[in-house]
Amino acid sequence: MDHPVLMIPGPTNLSEDVIRALCQPMVGHTSQEFYNDFKEAHALTAKLFGSNPERTVLFSGSGTFGMEALFSSFAEPGERMLSIVNGYFGDRFAEIGSIYGLKVKTMKFEPGQDVDVDALKNEISRESYSFVTLTHIDTSTGTMNDLKSVGEVVKQHNALFVVDMVSSLGCADFNFDDGLVDYAFSASQKCVGAPPGAIMVALSEELIEKRSSVKGRSYYFDLKRWLPVMKDPSIYLSTPNISVLRALRVALNEVFEEGLENKIKRHNELGKMAYEFVVERGWKPLSKRPSPSVIAFDLGKPVADEVQKKVYREGILIAKGLGSMSSRVLRVGYMGWTTEELLYNTLKKIEDAFNGL
Ligand code: PMP
Repeated sequence: MDHPVLMIPGPTNLSEDVIRALCQPMVGHTSQEFYNDFKEAHALTAKLFGSNPERTVLFSGSGTFGMEALFSSFAEPGERMLSIVNGYFGDRFAEIGSIYGLKVKTMKFEPGQDVDVDALKNEISRESYSFVTLTHIDTSTGTMNDLKSVGEVVKQHNALFVVDMVSSLGCADFNFDDGLVDYAFSASQKCVGAPPGAIMVALSEELIEKRSSVKGRSYYFDLKRWLPVMKDPSIYLSTPNISVLRALRVALNEVFEEGLENKIKRHNELGKMAYEFVVERGWKPLSKRPSPSVIAFDLGKPVADEVQKKVYREGILIAKGLGSMSSRVLRVGYMGWTTEELLYNTLKKIEDAFNGL
C-alpha cells in the first residue's frame, strides 16, 4: 500500500482531477489565472449553500476558523449565546464563545440524543440570546440535528441562528436562503471531497445589516474585511492557500456534475447501508438515525484500537471515537466520492477484524 484509503470523517479521498489541480505549478495570488479560478470556486460555494455570492465568504483555513470568525467579526463581549451541545464539536463552539468573552449557556443533551425542542423553547423564552449555535452533524456521534425545528424556535425569539455545517454541507439537504440560518460554515476536506485548507461561510442579510458596525477583534478572522475581497479577489488582504482553492474549484465542479440532489441521495443511501450493517452485527450506533456522512458505533467492548490497526493493515484508515468512549467506538466516514462498494468493503473488513480478535 503506498497510501491508505481514507474512510475517516474527513479529510476524504481525492479524485484524480482534484489531485492534479493540487499539483499544478504555483501562480501569483493576484494573477488573472488565480482570479478566475477563485471566482468560480466562490460562485460554486454560494450555490452549494443555496445562497448569494454577495453573502458568501471563501478563505483559507480549517473548520474551526468558522467558529472563530463568527465571534471575532460579529459578536461583542458580554453578549449572550446559547450553545446547543450534543457532541464534541458543540462543546468546542461553546468554549470558543467563552474565549471571546460571550456569556455562554450550554444546553447539553447526551451525545447522540436529539435536541429537545420543548426544552429549547422554554430556555429561549426565559432568557434572551443574541446567538444560538448548533452543530448540524456532530462528527463525534454521527448525529444529524433537525435544523428546521430548532431554527424555527430560534427565529421566533429573534436570535441569530448559527450552524456548524462542517460535516454536512454537500451531503445533507439544505438551502441557506430558506431564511432560517444566519451564519453557516463548512470546510473543504469533508463532504465536497477537496483537500483541507479552505473555509466556506454563508451570511444572512439580517446578520450583515445588524452587525456591520461591530468592531472586529481580529485582523485575519474579521469577515467584514473579506467581503470586499470576494467581490474583487485581486484585492490583497492575506496570501490565500492558492493550490487548495484551485483544487476546491475542481471538487465543486465534480459535485455539480454529479448533481447535488444525486449526491445527497447517494450519501443518504450510504448512511442507511452503514446503519443497517452495524445494527445487524449487534453493534450500537451512537445516533438513533442514519446520517449521510459519518457513522459512529459502539463495539460493546474496548477493542476499537485493535480493530482500527487491523483494518489499517488492510489498507483502509478508519477513525476511533472522540472523547471518553474512544476505546469502544469506531467512526467511519463516507463523504466525498465514496461508493457503496468501498463502504461495504470497509465495513466487512471491520467485521472480519472484530471477529478475528
Ligand atoms: N465542526 C465539526 C462538526 C467537525 O467535524 C470539525 C472537524 N472534524 C470541526 C468543526 C473542526 O474543523 P477543523 O478540524 O477543520 O478545524
